[in-house]
Amino acid sequence: MKPFTYVLPKDLAEAAAAGAAAQSLYKGAGIDLVDRMKERLQTPAQVVNLLPLAELGGIQAAADGSLTLGATTTLEQLASHPGLAGPALAALRTAAATTATPQVRARATVAGNLLQFTRCWYVRSEHHRCLHGGRGPTCLAMTGENRYHAVLGWLDCVRVHPSNLAPALLALGAEYTTLHDGKTQRRPLAELFPAQPRAEAPEHTLRPGEILTALHVPAQPAAARSAYTESREKLSHDWATTACAVRVVLAGGTITAADLVLGAVAPVPLPRPEAAKALLGKAPSDELFRKVAAMAFAGATPLGHNTYKLTVGPAIVREALHEAVR
Ligand SMILES: Cc1cc2nc3c(=O)[nH]c(=O)nc-3n(C[C@H](O)[C@H](O)[C@H](O)COP(=O)(O)OP(=O)(O)OC[C@H]3O[C@@H](n4cnc5c(N)ncnc54)[C@H](O)[C@@H]3O)c2cc1C
Repeated sequence: MKPFTYVLPKDLAEAAAAGAAAQSLYKGAGIDLVDRMKERLQTPAQVVNLLPLAELGGIQAAADGSLTLGATTTLEQLASHPGLAGPALAALRTAAATTATPQVRARATVAGNLLQFTRCWYVRSEHHRCLHGGRGPTCLAMTGENRYHAVLGWLDCVRVHPSNLAPALLALGAEYTTLHDGKTQRRPLAELFPAQPRAEAPEHTLRPGEILTALHVPAQPAAARSAYTESREKLSHDWATTACAVRVVLAGGTITAADLVLGAVAPVPLPRPEAAKALLGKAPSDELFRKVAAMAFAGATPLGHNTYKLTVGPAIVREALHEAVR
């Protein structure tokens, strides 16, 4: 690992000032960051540890049921918080509770989970001349070992976005707040991810020095229900091969609002609004859910080794829909 200066800020202002310096990076638990530093894939001159900052930690639940998640809230805190009990926020609770291992969940932060780097083995190896890493002319995964890679939404790079929390937070209509250059800004969560996820685009849209300070989960209607399901090769220590978060509002046996977001199949967490729209005004049924699941994967382009995602993915969508209305 290349030597670096380690900063333990006393408050958010000090963290932001340190983070604004050239070649500075913020650290949550460091699970992804330190891994990449050890591999020399990231070589910051300075690492600013955000964990000591009390103002970034913890979950605040408002009387209307909306939640503010501090950036350094751990996945374990999220999964076990009483504000997430019940069917409306089940997608977020499940996404947090099924990530990685108990050890990882006890340390990993909400911000770090959303901002983690892709797991594509080509870009995560210093030995490969990969387009996304800026080290080579082509996406090696496009014709190489691509069983975990994208089937939707890719342009010139077939990496997938690995976060469990991202599809769940998007389906629930979350927003995020950042601090940059002394200014606080709150935006829809979709803006945290590149609209055109080309190889040269990073995994997220934060500017150098910008701190993700909080996530905001809006109050849900009384009849809202959500679910998160995923497929993976191993039950533990593993990332999803396909994932789906859904949120539906049921009134008098009819679906009156719906959101559906796919994970692990595209370079960004991928909302599928057309599929969600097909649920509106209908009563839940397996026939409807099969149709919607097929719509969610409409236009998918498999690579040499990931055709299975076109079978497993729709099954995961169908399972999420059944789970949400159960
Ligand atoms: C065995 C294993 C299995 C896993 N399985 C899954 C899985 O199934 N699903 C899943 O989603 N994840 C999985 N993970 C990944 C894990 O959830 C992430 O690595 C972890 O959440 C990252 O959080 P962190 O706090 O350690 O982030 P860090 O490693 O500290 O940071 C990650 C990135 O975010 C930046 N950053 C962190 N906080 C901020 C902030 N507040 N503002 C600005 N930038 C910031 C850092 O500079 C870095 O670039 C797994 C990890 C392991 C080790």
